[in-house]
Formats: sequence, structure tokens, C-alpha cells
Amino acid sequence: MKKCPNCKEVITGRSDKKFCSPYCKSNFHYEQNKQHESSLYKQIDRQLKINRKILKNFNKAGKATIRKEKLLEVGFDPKYFTHYWKNSKSEVYLFCYEFGFLAKKDPRGIERFVLVQWQPYMN
Ligand SMILES: [Zn+2]
Repeated sequence: MKKCPNCKEVITGRSDKKFCSPYCKSNFHYEQNKQHESSLYKQIDRQLKINRKILKNFNKAGKATIRKEKLLEVGFDPKYFTHYWKNSKSEVYLFCYEFGFLAKKDPRGIERFVLVQWQPYMN
């Protein structure tokens, strides 16, 4: 006996029927999409908070420079940020809430992040 995945009623009729009614079919897909959306939302939200915490931990003095690998090792993901700020040299700092970072290569080609804290003049 097959059950409708939406309402859990036993399905009668044709054996290839997956849902008891067109309503259950569309409702089921609707709910699935909704769940999918919210899990993406949660995943991004989680990563942003992780990023913020890492930037905060490595930036106790308000400004710091750190090797990119070091941040990636502890779970930092630079794809996720909340906003950006461009300085007068057109360098773009990416922020996770009030903590920002700027990717920079040093002369030896080592990638580093310059860490900063959000300042009122950046608004
Ligand atoms: Zn149903």
C-alpha cells in the first residue's frame, strides 16, 4: 500500500499514482521548495556568523594582517560577506557585519587578508 507523501493517506486507484490528488502533489512540491530555501538561508546565515567570529578573533587590536590560509583553515569562507567598503585607493574591503577584510598579495605572492573594523566614516 502506497501512501501520499503529502497527507499520508493511502492512495487508491492507479498504481503509478504518487499523490492522492493534484492538490497534494502541488502542496508537497511547494513545501519542499520552501524547506530548500530556508536551508540555504540558514546555511548562509551560519557561514556569515562563523566568518564574523573568525575575523573578530584574529582582529583583537582593530587592525591586523594574516595569511589567507590561516583563516581558511579555521573555516572562514570569503565568498560570504554582508557588504563592502571601497577606500580612496579603490581597494574593496568586504565585511561580515562590523569586521572587514581585504585580500592582498604580498611581494612574494603570499595571499594575506588585511583585517579592519567598521568605522563610522565608512558609511
Ligand atoms: Zn494526499
